[in-house]
Amino acid sequence: MSRRLKIVVLGLSLSSSWGNGHATTYRSLLKALAARGHEILFLERNVPWYAENRDLTNPDYCWLAFYEDLAGLERWRREVASADAVIVGSFTPEGVAVGRWAMEAASGPVAFYDIDTPVTLGKLFRGDVEYLAPEQVAQYDLYLSFTGGPTLTRLERDYGSPAARALYCSADAEIYQPTGAARRWDLSYLGTYSPDRQPVLDRLLLQAARAAPELNFCVAGPQYPRDIEWPANVERLEHVAPADHPDFYSASRFTLNVTRADMVAAGYAPSVRLFEAGACGCPIISDVWTGLDTLFRPEEEIVLAETAEDTLAALRAGDDVRAGLAEGARRRVLDAHTSHHRAETLETELLAAIERRAGRPASAAASQTPVSTSETLTTMKKKQQRVLVAGGAGFLGSHLCDRLLSEGAQVVCLDNLQTGSLDNLERALAHPDFEFVKADIVDPLPSRLPRRRFDRIYNLACAASPPLYQADPEHTLLTSVVGTRHLLQLAETCGARFLLASTCEIYGDPEVHPQPETYWGNVNSTGPRACYDEGKRCAETLSFDFDRAGRGEVRVARIFNTYGPRLSAADGRVVSNLVSQALAEADITVFGDGSQTRSFCYVDDLVGGLIALMEHDGPQPGPVNLGNPTELTVRELVEVILAITGSESEVVFRPLPVDDPKRRRPDISKAADVLGWKPTTPLEQGLKATIAWFDSLPAKPAEAEDSAALSA
Ligand code: NAD
Ligand code: UDP
Repeated sequence: MSRRLKIVVLGLSLSSSWGNGHATTYRSLLKALAARGHEILFLERNVPWYAENRDLTNPDYCWLAFYEDLAGLERWRREVASADAVIVGSFTPEGVAVGRWAMEAASGPVAFYDIDTPVTLGKLFRGDVEYLAPEQVAQYDLYLSFTGGPTLTRLERDYGSPAARALYCSADAEIYQPTGAARRWDLSYLGTYSPDRQPVLDRLLLQAARAAPELNFCVAGPQYPRDIEWPANVERLEHVAPADHPDFYSASRFTLNVTRADMVAAGYAPSVRLFEAGACGCPIISDVWTGLDTLFRPEEEIVLAETAEDTLAALRAGDDVRAGLAEGARRRVLDAHTSHHRAETLETELLAAIERRAGRPASAAASQTPVSTSETLTTMKKKQQRVLVAGGAGFLGSHLCDRLLSEGAQVVCLDNLQTGSLDNLERALAHPDFEFVKADIVDPLPSRLPRRRFDRIYNLACAASPPLYQADPEHTLLTSVVGTRHLLQLAETCGARFLLASTCEIYGDPEVHPQPETYWGNVNSTGPRACYDEGKRCAETLSFDFDRAGRGEVRVARIFNTYGPRLSAADGRVVSNLVSQALAEADITVFGDGSQTRSFCYVDDLVGGLIALMEHDGPQPGPVNLGNPTELTVRELVEVILAITGSESEVVFRPLPVDDPKRRRPDISKAADVLGWKPTTPLEQGLKATIAWFDSLPAKPAEAEDSAALSA
């Protein structure tokens, strides 16, 4: 053992093995962990069924304690806080809340131990959050799974687990060994009835029994329907107690392994009977599924069967073949599949998680980063920046995530998916250094974030399209104020530099043109845009107060109208509306007479500006305008879009929204002086890329119409 660990486990049950396979799993694993010198506290919810059927109350390898409810867990907070690692098991009662509590209370890594991975994934898919919420997969430091192989990739890639590792079931070699029991059956099977396994059991055992009346068979386990016609040479045992399993396997010339359908589908999901029977020196005939050959060598350590004939061929092979299989299986289990091997794996994974928590070594991801010439990028790669992007599933945020990843950063995206979408993150989600956390920044941040060490926090979380941010103005305001405060506090806690995506809207309907950062603005604090404008103004205030008070290093970008691929067609902003309408040959909606002006910046330029501002190391530069100063009227924009698309859409005029600014154009001299930044993409080029992207989407003319109506 490299280090004595204090481990707290919150699981379904250790005290009762009645009607669950968890208790025996925990018992052998924890016993083996204790034998390696680790100190373990097992916390079990005191539920009536297990309380009435306890077959273990005072284990000598760990401390077992009961709690009544979530409030009762508080008593154990100090133990959890001082533990080196915490493990929460699948099917723990109120597991979602218990997991959250553990993450909030723990100071070390918190792992999820899934004894039921295929079941869990089915639940997540159906939206059933009995013991694990989808976002928690990304929040647990480690996902230990009874199922290995591609399922682990799925947990990491699709659900954002930072580390999904196989921790298979195993056999306790002290309990499972040949007992010398007299031979009773040529082939046995031990398992509870399950409809999905029955056809395989029928084919591999019952059909073989019918074809070989001279051989003896046994099917042991509860819940088999009464109407099954058992051949005369098949003995039925309703129950074999765990303590009698070694005798059961020792009394079998061969035993059969049949795997549940969801485990077959997932692959790499061994049943515990494989290891227990193997450890007892009982040769195994198994159904066939992907990954089995990584656990036992076919023909030398296990027999694979697809038909009754395969079964009978194995049963009729010579004694020397049988003895070779028995020895091969037992040797393999003792070499690789005992609870001591699992304890060793668990220890290694927990130590790695502890190390990751303390700060990932710079070499870890360096090999995955692409070559870049930019100085900023080189710096980022050198440091392997850990970056949080709030609002990262939105239009701008998703481009920012992609750029940061391509520059070698580790990126966590936090988003409530209110106006953003996981579709925007398709590329990012496939990247090993990316993690998605679904959360609303108005709520207290997911408890494990404050324990992460970010170097940079970008706050882009806020609906930006007028019809969308006006749909729930209170939430919009709270997002900018309360949400920004939460993120600033997080930045303070972990010493991250913080960038606020503010907006040109803080200038309101400007009386100064173009707008420099020194202009204080002209905002109607009671109008329908105020939830956004005043929210952002307040967010700026909070940010600069944090900076002034020395609580964090802050950057504020005042972003002007930006456009590009991934603008949602349902967004309601002018570029998405006009492009969608033009492509659909639908009416082009111009609000007012179209003489109001805007200045449009292409998204790639803007993202470059955000990173340049974030990475600016000098003294506090104050707010910095980021935008493209090329100004045009909405009517002119319509003309450009119609020309590029060749659309013959009619222009229709709709009422101008309340407080719609008449003119807008950034003065970007500060960005040029301080950051050396200016946009380089001409409008026509950017619009062509945007139009091509919209054109590649499935046509949804109704959506564009709907959002235009909403906007008006
Ligand atoms: P967007 O609506 O596409 O993205 C905003 C993202 O924030 C979405 O993914 C949304 O789901 C998320 N979000 C909203 N409220 C949240 C909350 N309470 N908690 C967690 N996530 C939340 O908008 P965008 O154009 O990408 O704008 C991004 C940021 O840039 C916004 O803060 C916006 O104010 C600012 N900005 C954008 C523009 C522009 O032209 N695109 C101009 C000025 C300012
Ligand atoms: N606009 C328009 N037709 C539309 C959507 C918007 O004429 O279908 C106008 C809107 O009134 C505003 C400008 O285009 O004057 C930019 O609107 P947008 O909603 O994109 O953002 P804003 O700059 O007003 O926040």
